[in-house]
Amino acid sequence: MVKAIRVHRPGGPDALQLEEIELPAPGPGEVQIRHRAIGVNYIDIYRRTGAYPAEFPFVPGHEGAGEIVAVGEGVKDFEVGDRVAYVGGLGGYSEARNIAADSVIHLPKSVSYAQGAVMMLKGLTAQYLLRRTFRVKKGHRVLVHAGAGGVGQLLCQWASALDAKVVATVGSPEKAEIARKAGAQDVILYRAEKFDERVKEITKGRLCDVVYDGVGRATFPASLDCLAPFGMFVSFGSASGPIESFDIGLLAQKGSLYATRPSLFTHIAKRRDYEDMVEDMLHAIKREHVTIDPPQAFPLAEAAKVHAALESRQTVGSMVLTP
Ligand code: NDP
Repeated sequence: MVKAIRVHRPGGPDALQLEEIELPAPGPGEVQIRHRAIGVNYIDIYRRTGAYPAEFPFVPGHEGAGEIVAVGEGVKDFEVGDRVAYVGGLGGYSEARNIAADSVIHLPKSVSYAQGAVMMLKGLTAQYLLRRTFRVKKGHRVLVHAGAGGVGQLLCQWASALDAKVVATVGSPEKAEIARKAGAQDVILYRAEKFDERVKEITKGRLCDVVYDGVGRATFPASLDCLAPFGMFVSFGSASGPIESFDIGLLAQKGSLYATRPSLFTHIAKRRDYEDMVEDMLHAIKREHVTIDPPQAFPLAEAAKVHAALESRQTVGSMVLTP
C-alpha cells in the first residue's frame, strides 16, 4: 500500500483526497518509481475539474522524479537504484507508482530530484514551444503571457538567452519583478493595462513575431493584435478558460497570421523526439540558458492547498509535492 491523492469526482481542490492505495508489481515494460519530488502543473487542475477527460477515480499528476525500486519484465534500460525523472500518464501524486519505462529518463547527478520534477513537463514544454513550434531566433520579438508562472519564467529565460526581445504580461507588480529577473525586457500588468496597446507602444508599432499564450479566454482575441503580419499565435493553455470558437477569417484580417494549439504529449510521443528534447533541455541548463530554480516544495498531503493557490493566481514559478 502507498499513500496517494485520489479524485473520485470532478470538483474543487477538496476533491483531492489523501488515501492508501494498492501498488502492484510493475507490469511488462514498466518500472516502479519511489517519488522524491512530484511536479504540480496546471493540467492537474483541468483534470481535477473535469475540463480534460479522466476516468474516475484517478491519481492526478503527470511529472515526477525519484528512484527505481522495481523493474518489470522486458525492461532493459533501467535498474533498481537508478535516479530517474519522467513526464507521462496520470498517477504522479503518490509515494510510488508504476509507469511505462518509455516515459522515463535517467536524471544526471547535477540535476536534483526537485529540479528533475520541474524540468520534465514544464521544461520540455518551454523546449518545444521555443525550438519546435516556432523557432525563436536572435532579434525576434516574443510576447509571453503569465511570464512569472512555471512555464512562463522558463519561456522568458530561454527566449532571452536566444537573444529574442521578450515582453511578458503578469498579474501583479511582484510578478513583474520576477518576470524581469527571468529575462523579460518589458513587462505589462495586464489586469490594469490593455496589453495589446502596450505591446504596440513597446515595439514602436512593429508588433511581435510570436505570442505564447497559456492564459486562453481572457487574452483572446487581443493576443492576435500583438502580432506582426505572418506572426504565429501559439495557444498552449487555458488557465482563464478555453478560447471560444472563432472565424478563421480573423487570421486573414489581422495580417495573414498563423495559429496553433500544440500539446507536449504529441511532441514526446516518439521516444527519439523525447530523448532529443531532454538532451536539448539539459544542454540549455548546462549553458545556463535556463536555470531551474529550486521549486517551492509542499508535503503530498497539502496538494489541495497548492491547487487552491495555483488557480487563484497566488503562485509564482514552479511547485513540487514531496511524499
Ligand atoms: P502557471 O504557474 O503559469 O499558473 C497559471 C498562471 O496563469 C497564473 O499564475 C496567472 O498568472 C495566469 N492566469 C491568468 N488568468 C488566470 C485565471 N483566470 N486563473 C488562473 N490563472 C490565470 O501554470 P503552469 O506553468 O503549470 O502552466 C501554464 C500554462 O501552460 C497553463 O495554461 C497550462 O495548461 C499550459 N501548459 C500547456 C502545455 C502544453 O503542452 N500545451 C504543457 C504545460 C503547460 P498571472 O497572475 O501573472 O496572470
